[in-house]
Amino acid sequence: MALRFVIIGGGPAGNQAATYAARLGASVTMIEREIVGGAAHLLDCIPSKTMISTGGAISFGQRISGMGLVDAATRVDGDALIRRIDGIRDHMRDDIERLLVSQGVDIVHGSAKFTGTHSVEVTSSTGTRSIEFDAALIATGTRPRIPQWCEPDGERILTTRDCYPPKVFPDKVTVIGSGVTGVEFVHMFASFGAEVALVVSRQQVLPGKDPEAAAILEDDFMRRGVRLLKGARATTIDRTDNGVIVRCDDGRNVESNLAVLAIGSVPNTEDLDLDAAGVIRDEAGYVPINHHCVTNQPHIYAAGDVSGKLPLSSVASVQGRKVAEHAMGLHTREHRHLDYDKAASAIFTEPEIADVGLAEAEAFALGRKIRVTKVPFATTPKALINNDPRGFVKIVSDPATGVVLGGSIVGQHAAELISVIALAVTANLTVTDIVESLLVHPALAEALAQAAE
Ligand SMILES: Cc1cc2nc3c(=O)[nH]c(=O)nc-3n(C[C@H](O)[C@H](O)[C@H](O)COP(=O)(O)OP(=O)(O)OC[C@H]3O[C@@H](n4cnc5c(N)ncnc54)[C@H](O)[C@@H]3O)c2cc1C
Repeated sequence: MALRFVIIGGGPAGNQAATYAARLGASVTMIEREIVGGAAHLLDCIPSKTMISTGGAISFGQRISGMGLVDAATRVDGDALIRRIDGIRDHMRDDIERLLVSQGVDIVHGSAKFTGTHSVEVTSSTGTRSIEFDAALIATGTRPRIPQWCEPDGERILTTRDCYPPKVFPDKVTVIGSGVTGVEFVHMFASFGAEVALVVSRQQVLPGKDPEAAAILEDDFMRRGVRLLKGARATTIDRTDNGVIVRCDDGRNVESNLAVLAIGSVPNTEDLDLDAAGVIRDEAGYVPINHHCVTNQPHIYAAGDVSGKLPLSSVASVQGRKVAEHAMGLHTREHRHLDYDKAASAIFTEPEIADVGLAEAEAFALGRKIRVTKVPFATTPKALINNDPRGFVKIVSDPATGVVLGGSIVGQHAAELISVIALAVTANLTVTDIVESLLVHPALAEALAQAAE
């Protein structure tokens, strides 16, 4: 009899696990309470990147004066943008659903919770039903974190998820939180012409990221008039007649039309009755897993954001595939373990920032000997042709062997270009392998070859 595999959550982790497990012969039931494709994925990641892409076209227009063009789009048609976001999201959801159905996955709409070690109960508008399983995957994702000191109202005090579809394009916005999501929202609102303030609790935006990369982003924010409130923590947000006042612990206040909270996320685990299945959660509510994504129960897996590893759609998808392989008994090969330290990530600001593997600061903290080479894009013809010489490529390698250990890229298309370094890091390639690749000219990738020399 085929393995009865129940998956709770239809985001990147859940739908990849479902597709692969079904392909490998499991009888798969996927339970989703909101949107097939995933809440964080289709309600956060995709709309935010769509808005950033439209905003990016506007800010590109502001930089084209040196390119021999006369007119560029400077205003956004809000209704057209909403149609564009909805169109992309619906297209993706339909594609994912079609693929799942074509593989024989049974999609059940409703909210699931465990009722035992081998059973779940699904509740929907049409009633309640019980489903038995041999193996299960918890892939329920996360939701925006709400602080104790402020309750979002969905109107003027928003979580990142309340920002789309954009009801209004505000003149003034205050973003609280300067991590990846916060700076992307600053970039997005600034591109649409808003006056933006950013509350930065530390002395650098993007804490934990390469300080040189963060400095370039801060320069861009200053160029665009973004007000940075460094070393400040928001403590209250008061509503006024036509906006909000964000009050900080150092006495500074900012007035704007909207405040956006971008202060992290919390896992969706409290409604799952994990105790009934004997699955443990950590103090923050995440489900701990081993390197095969197995929880403390050998037949129950967790993957994606809820596993508390890297909160990235790309990581969730690969974890989902690994879960399917493990559940179907294809886990014997050692090299199939996921190495989260080698995951590439990108920040879709202007310029883009991407990194992978060992960072320079991390290597110094570990006392590890490294070779760091850095090449500014200004030395590559393509950056000049594109009228955007900002940024650099930095490669971290082992001085003895030349093996590429990591790297960071700041500049146009950094999110695409980092793939070369990511591949090198994953496959233990050397800097010579990159130098001797016969790359395209003129291309921004030439900076990679130069940095590898
Ligand atoms: C603003 C923003 C931008 C982002 N941008 C990027 C990006 O550019 N690149 C990137 O790689 N990542 C990005 N991410 C992160 C990415 O969205 C997540 O890492 C990814 O969606 C995680 O996938 P998942 O499968 O774990 O969870 P999700 O996509 O959140 O899916 C979980 C699903 O489980 C369902 N669910 C929850 N509980 C139950 C239940 N009890 N019963 C049934 N269903 C349930 C939910 O409805 C949801 O659909 C971004 C996140 C945010 C917030």
